[in-house]
Amino acid sequence: MWPLFALVLGLLVGSFLNVVVHRLPRGESLVFPPSRCPHCGRRLGPMDLVPVLSYLVLRGRCRYCGKPISPRYPLVEALTGGLFLLASLFYPPSLEALLVFAFLGLLVALAFIDLDTFELPDGLTYGLLFLGLLSAHLLSFPRPFAEALDGALLAAGALALIAGYGGLFLRRFREGRAEVPVGPHQVHMAALFGALLGPGVGMALAFLTWALSARTGRPVVLPDRITLPLLPLAWILAPYLGADLLSTLKGSFLAAGGLALAGGLYWAFKPVNEVNKEGEETDPVAIGYGDVKLLGALGAWLGLYSLLALFLGVFVGALVGLAFRQRKIPFGPYLALGGVVAFFFGETLWRAYMAWLGL
Ligand SMILES: [Zn+2]
Repeated sequence: MWPLFALVLGLLVGSFLNVVVHRLPRGESLVFPPSRCPHCGRRLGPMDLVPVLSYLVLRGRCRYCGKPISPRYPLVEALTGGLFLLASLFYPPSLEALLVFAFLGLLVALAFIDLDTFELPDGLTYGLLFLGLLSAHLLSFPRPFAEALDGALLAAGALALIAGYGGLFLRRFREGRAEVPVGPHQVHMAALFGALLGPGVGMALAFLTWALSARTGRPVVLPDRITLPLLPLAWILAPYLGADLLSTLKGSFLAAGGLALAGGLYWAFKPVNEVNKEGEETDPVAIGYGDVKLLGALGAWLGLYSLLALFLGVFVGALVGLAFRQRKIPFGPYLALGGVVAFFFGETLWRAYMAWLGL
């Protein structure tokens, strides 16, 4: 009965997620008005809204005007139903199972919103992050709290640094615009200080420059051209200075992740497109940290397996990008896919890989 219940619940949640995916980016209410046909505007009754079945019975057309309905709707419903069914095979009826359903539902919504808009709403990424941390704190599920927090910071830090180096190469080593009071510059500084002095001090120093930037109204930062090249140097030299490589790496990722997630949260509450003194729109770079926030959120649920999610996401995303020759693909759906695979099969995959290596 439990798997059947999970499947039906998933279909219904999927039907709601269609509404979320459609309305959340537009800032519309999720409950009102009730669903209408996008073509004829006729209000849809309960018989038109049975997940998957209505679509099949009506052969993909509106009952009233006969115009085609996007197959996306039954697809999202079937996908959510399938994921909930999968979860029910791993978890018995429990609070834990409900948390896994929430994890999966949020990922489905994020993936499809990113496909449509190339954006990952902060409400959903931070919702996923804080739900993971809260669950870890209260239930030690799916990971103990320390592991969840480390996972979130490490994963966000790793991807923020990858983005930092990517940006530096794309700009051909020209210095990027520094955000006031906080932006990627602080993230890169936190990584460097974190490598040299440990994550706590690294974060503290970067937060200090954030405060100074806020106070003075101008960026108080080290240039990326200094911090980013020095960072790998610090990693390489660490063993010669009596520190071990692993804790140096960890120090920089943790500190960078702390700044990236805290800075992202700051910008999430700031009105966007503020106009500065020169009259130009200041769209903060930190808003482009959607993937960083999503991977950070996955870290809270997956711990170190979030790095496996990142690897799988890059791998599948690159394959799809090559296969369809697309230049710009949203990364969120692939991260979400990697997250789901790593959540259910991460340990199995890791053990199989180790066995294959003969370890
Ligand atoms: Zn219609």
